[in-house]
Amino acid sequence: MTTSHATPYFVGDHLALDFLNSRVAPANAPAGESFDWLGNGAQLLDWLVDSGAVDVSVARQFRGKKDTVAGLDEVARQARELRDWLADFLGRHAGRRLGRDVAAELAPLNKLLARDDTYRAIEAATSGASALDWCQRRRWTPERLLMPIAEAIGDLVCRCDFRLVRTCEGADCILMFYDRTKAHARRWCSMALCGNRAKAAAHRARHRLKEDRPPAR
Ligand SMILES: [Zn+2]
Repeated sequence: MTTSHATPYFVGDHLALDFLNSRVAPANAPAGESFDWLGNGAQLLDWLVDSGAVDVSVARQFRGKKDTVAGLDEVARQARELRDWLADFLGRHAGRRLGRDVAAELAPLNKLLARDDTYRAIEAATSGASALDWCQRRRWTPERLLMPIAEAIGDLVCRCDFRLVRTCEGADCILMFYDRTKAHARRWCSMALCGNRAKAAAHRARHRLKEDRPPAR
């Protein structure tokens, strides 16, 4: 498994769902195999940067350092575990409005969030109208690389409408997305991947129907 032969999917329209989509089934994978972008620590770092979850300067602190390799691999294992937990949670709740009763189920996420260590800092602004920026900083450790993901999951469950969290309608497609379209009519992970495939299948079906029809008298 290498990171080079496939680019990750960022079709979720929400970081938490992109995180869920960081593993795909054979139907989605380029060569028809299942694929995991969080297979080890180095892959996790790549995915975190590509998804915009962490800044490239943060990743640089950990990348290629011998003493952090084992730690990062362990964090990647924790990330996969978190993703399994999220998949299970979404499997039970996506498509329906969340009730207060789910709070108890979110205890593992709260446990993870409690390990964070952030602080505020004031810095000279590099752009924009104001001279100073009110920045949020984190005391980074390998384990805290999961915090942007945990925060994104928190945002998804607290601020998003779970009725709009959906799985792509493509046959065998497991990619999920947050439907931000005005009409809430999004059906596919992407038109290029599944939309066109479904359109072609519908076209073929219509064609067959026409051929099966007895000739008009
Ligand atoms: Zn799809």
